Amino acid sequence: MYYIGIDLGGTNIKGALVNEAGEILREESRPTRAALGAETVCDGIAAVITALAEGTDAIGGVGIGCPGTVDDASGRVVYAPNLGWRDFDLRAAVKERTGFALRLGNDANAAALAETLVGCAKGAQSAVIVTLGTGVGGGVVLGGRLLTGCTGAASEPGHMVIHSGGEKCACGREGCFEAYASATALIRETKRAMAAQPQSLLHTVAKENGTVDGRTAFVAAQRGDAAARAVVERYTDDLACGLANLVNIFFPEVIALSGGIAEQGEALLVPLRERVRSLSYASDCAARHTRIERCTLGYRAGVIGAALLARQP
Ligand SMILES: [Zn+2]
Repeated sequence: MYYIGIDLGGTNIKGALVNEAGEILREESRPTRAALGAETVCDGIAAVITALAEGTDAIGGVGIGCPGTVDDASGRVVYAPNLGWRDFDLRAAVKERTGFALRLGNDANAAALAETLVGCAKGAQSAVIVTLGTGVGGGVVLGGRLLTGCTGAASEPGHMVIHSGGEKCACGREGCFEAYASATALIRETKRAMAAQPQSLLHTVAKENGTVDGRTAFVAAQRGDAAARAVVERYTDDLACGLANLVNIFFPEVIALSGGIAEQGEALLVPLRERVRSLSYASDCAARHTRIERCTLGYRAGVIGAALLARQP
């Protein structure tokens, strides 16, 4: 049996034909063209599905990962600001065009499902996936199933507060995990350190790369710069605080990080594991600890996870 997964992004509609083991057999892509309206976007989705299904009889289902809040029970996209959609019946629109009744999931949740079932946490029954990008997204899988909450809006680790009254978050609250652990937050802190320390190596590294990004502080810290080390230390502390909160709530077998900052690999993970362990409840007596790893599927996690949504009971 094969499954079709669609990753609906603001720029592209990416699709893949995936087998039972979560391996990609074929990929397709079309521009989203969200500005032309939902009907045009659905035409694009249908074209990708049709192309992927061609010549294959054994399609077990179609899943789609959407940005924003989606409700799989009703088949509706509740709210997707990137697409300009509110309460849109995506299942009906795609069924009408292709005959397939698709399963819906949030895009970050779909990626989390893929990493848990066939990626970095393969074999685990529970995992929390945290994406450190422009924002902080993620998904929670318990007992092999996505935790979606009553309207599909659960699993937004980026918006738990870790510093009450702290930095303003894009969601309107102050002190959210996202406002400290995202690449955006790391860049903000790097720029603040640069402004306060004109002699810092941070300036040299930024000049070499032509920009200040999520790597600047890590590179300067590795070269021994004190201001950069302070930025990295504080960032790691805040990241550890949020991850320890997730451990304390879910105690998953695996927490895995994706996104640009996760590319630091062991340079980030080694000190992070130490800190999370010391902050985790009952860390001394718990027989098993949560493993903290890096995600392995990359950008393909989105389409693979969408296909796996179609297999969820
Ligand atoms: Zn927030």
